[in-house]
Amino acid sequence: MARKQTEEPHYHGHVDAARLADSEAQRSNFQAALNGPDEVVEWLSSELRKAASNPDMSLVDEGQLWHQFATEREPITTGLQTGPTLMAVPIPEDRCPCERPELRTVRGRS
Ligand SMILES: [Zn+2]
Repeated sequence: MARKQTEEPHYHGHVDAARLADSEAQRSNFQAALNGPDEVVEWLSSELRKAASNPDMSLVDEGQLWHQFATEREPITTGLQTGPTLMAVPIPEDRCPCERPELRTVRGRS
């Protein structure tokens, strides 16, 4: 009964150099394990700014939308017209490959 259903959604972030139409979330382009909508939005924002070489890019509207999607555990895809494509994919906990140590990312702490 006490399933961990109330926990924050777990996402995997993928970056594919290809354009949206040609991109696919695969193990080879796995970049980050993300927990909760805030981390998902933060990761997408920073990767998109990096891809656009624009650290000041305003992503307020996008961020709100992404946050809503992540709250609903929907997959999120964004990116630049010419690539790269960023994908945030919700992962059911019992099928999470980041149990494998080589894929585990440590959450930042200061
Ligand atoms: Zn995972």
